[in-house]
Amino acid sequence: MNDPVLLLNANFEPLHVCTTKRALGLLVTGKAEMLHNGRGIIRTVRLSIPRPSVIRLGYMVKRPRPRVKLTKQEIFRRDQYTCQYCGTKAKGLTIDHIVPRSRGGVHSWTNLVTACPECNRKKGGRTLHEAKMRLINPPREPQATAIYLYSAYLNTNEPWRDYLTGW
Ligand SMILES: [Zn+2]
Repeated sequence: MNDPVLLLNANFEPLHVCTTKRALGLLVTGKAEMLHNGRGIIRTVRLSIPRPSVIRLGYMVKRPRPRVKLTKQEIFRRDQYTCQYCGTKAKGLTIDHIVPRSRGGVHSWTNLVTACPECNRKKGGRTLHEAKMRLINPPREPQATAIYLYSAYLNTNEPWRDYLTGW
């Protein structure tokens, strides 16, 4: 009952991922409709319904445009697990502050990049200019597209792709 279910807004925009249990609650109260199942049948004493995979709310939920949360893992993912100085996919990747904290560098998408331990050590507490180092890609905040946000679920929920694409 804890299997993930993709919940869409009334306009089909992906809202979030909920549990099967929560999805069933929305379905049996008529607040949502089933868009995709294919995971077998759930039987209880009173009902027997297809196990949901994607459901859609019958009403619009207003919310701000989602953003990708700034975490170490998300920075690695944005940088495709590649050192942004030398391009290697080394083990033990680290996060480098482009403008060092000691120089007032902030914790932001544009000041944090993936670096291999060697490049991080080499750069030390210096700026790019001082260290004579260059970045492979200009660091940006990743766009919080539905595919980007929910890509981890696609391995086991390929049918979601159609519902995630374009948002
Ligand atoms: Zn490197």
